[in-house]
Amino acid sequence: MTKYRCTICNYVYDEDNELKPFSDLPTEWVCPVCGSAKTEFIMLTKKSKLTTKDHTVSDVLIEQLAEWGVKYVFGIPGTSTLGIVDAIRKSNKIKFFQVRHEQVAAFMASAYGKLTGNVAACLGVSGPGATNLATGLYDANLDKSPVLAITGLVARQLMGPGSIQEIDQYSFFEPICVFNKILMAKNQTTILATLAVKHSLLDRGVSHLGVPRDVQKIPYETKILPLEGRITNLAFRSKDSLIIKAAHIINESKRPVIIAGFGAISQGINVLTLAEKISAPIITTFRAKGILDADEPLYVGSHGTIASTAAAELVRKADLLIVIGASYSDQTRIPEKKTIQIDINMNMIAKNYPVAVGLIGNSAIIVPRLTERVQNSHNSSYLNEIKQLKNSWLQLIAKEADSSSSPIRAQYIMKVLSEKIPDNAVISLDVGENAWWFGRNFQMKSTQKMIMSGYLASMGFGLPGALAASIAYPDRMSVCISGDGGFSMVMNDFLTAMKYALPIKVFVLNNQSLGMIMQEQKVEGYQNWQTNLYNFDFAKFAENSGGLGIKVLNPGELEEAIDKCFSTKTATIVDVNTDPKRF
Ligand code: FE
Repeated sequence: MTKYRCTICNYVYDEDNELKPFSDLPTEWVCPVCGSAKTEFIMLTKKSKLTTKDHTVSDVLIEQLAEWGVKYVFGIPGTSTLGIVDAIRKSNKIKFFQVRHEQVAAFMASAYGKLTGNVAACLGVSGPGATNLATGLYDANLDKSPVLAITGLVARQLMGPGSIQEIDQYSFFEPICVFNKILMAKNQTTILATLAVKHSLLDRGVSHLGVPRDVQKIPYETKILPLEGRITNLAFRSKDSLIIKAAHIINESKRPVIIAGFGAISQGINVLTLAEKISAPIITTFRAKGILDADEPLYVGSHGTIASTAAAELVRKADLLIVIGASYSDQTRIPEKKTIQIDINMNMIAKNYPVAVGLIGNSAIIVPRLTERVQNSHNSSYLNEIKQLKNSWLQLIAKEADSSSSPIRAQYIMKVLSEKIPDNAVISLDVGENAWWFGRNFQMKSTQKMIMSGYLASMGFGLPGALAASIAYPDRMSVCISGDGGFSMVMNDFLTAMKYALPIKVFVLNNQSLGMIMQEQKVEGYQNWQTNLYNFDFAKFAENSGGLGIKVLNPGELEEAIDKCFSTKTATIVDVNTDPKRF
């Protein structure tokens, strides 16, 4: 009865039509269409137990969303969402998480989409609930994360003259969304619900459904629409002739470099196989950090503002870039060079510069096909150079991680966290100095996952991201790395971790300032002004919330604090006193 969707290509495994339940398939089983691992599948729906006879539009809406794989709604109930919230209460398929601010709900849904490739919903009332969602939704929009926003609207007969909490919600959401509709009549319920999920998955962004509060309670019973046959399979690729052309260019190259972006995040092994065959180093964008183990010999770090010295030099000297699923942000700084580009989005091909060959399609399909076509090349002098450059980079990082200096250096914190964070942890990053140091100095493992607010770069993402990670992966440790500025924007929702017993581990790199802005004032010749922060004792705040709080003032206390934090089963804040100065 249960169905599973491949989040890489959308193939649906329906247990009703198969010989084995999904859980009985061996771990080495792969998607029959795109070849992705079993772990890339997500459960769509469980057997229904809904027995109520008094179905409303809200019940149908929630049942339909569940059928298409929505499992979580994050939000705050309110006057104009009473019907929808009651339908979620009655559903045994969708779970509601009540938060303290709608921005956190939207960030959670965005984080969940980035982590799983599946859609979660966030919910807010008309007016302020809707506008509070906006920052998290813009994060999803810019980072191409599939998210559904559900809002209440004032009753239809009140629309127009200016009712309490009434804004022009349709217009408000229009620039944020790939799909934006107001549900005005009961017979639109299943079609709009399915189109909303479909657009968020295929157009990779935010869908919004607004439902007037009177529509929510209209009695309605109808057939729930299945996903199969309604969603495009994404296992497509460019023509063989283009792949052959790309392979020819790679064969001619003396110094190829692979740059992998978030679009290749699940393709680490495939990218490595290509790299090994052609003797090329692998560089990632910030968001693709962790695609391979940091100690993988051909992986040389990230490019751009958080660049490793090795990555910067290898890109500078490259005669060919092979760019896979990267979006050419100004932070990654991919230069204009001879390029082969692979992307699922045709508008991303040659976005900034002309490319020698643009390969449209799913990297899960294209990278192995390209690997088949290229010649084996063992370029030992290039491989030696890569090894040496990587070693000097690692030596520099080790030297920076001075354990004696107080206040504690961020580089040292990253070193200890690299050693202590478990191999299967999910790490949610905030924005600011903390993220900069993580991107540059943290040694990530391919078995870990990391999420961040990439393009919007919104402070306050870290904590909601950790909440979402803890919900999506209850068996894995969820770690938040934040600064004092970003954390204090959303810290009320540490209470949400307590309420739902989500054992998140929050590290607040407390430099008592908006550290990155302080750096920028300095670099651009402005006086340091309005960047000092008057702070909480975040450890005491954790204790007062019912969690565990640990204050770290000296470098010698850090390891023990982390051990204590990781060995408890409760939500924890480790408040680490850090140096606001970068170098
Ligand atoms: Fe697949």
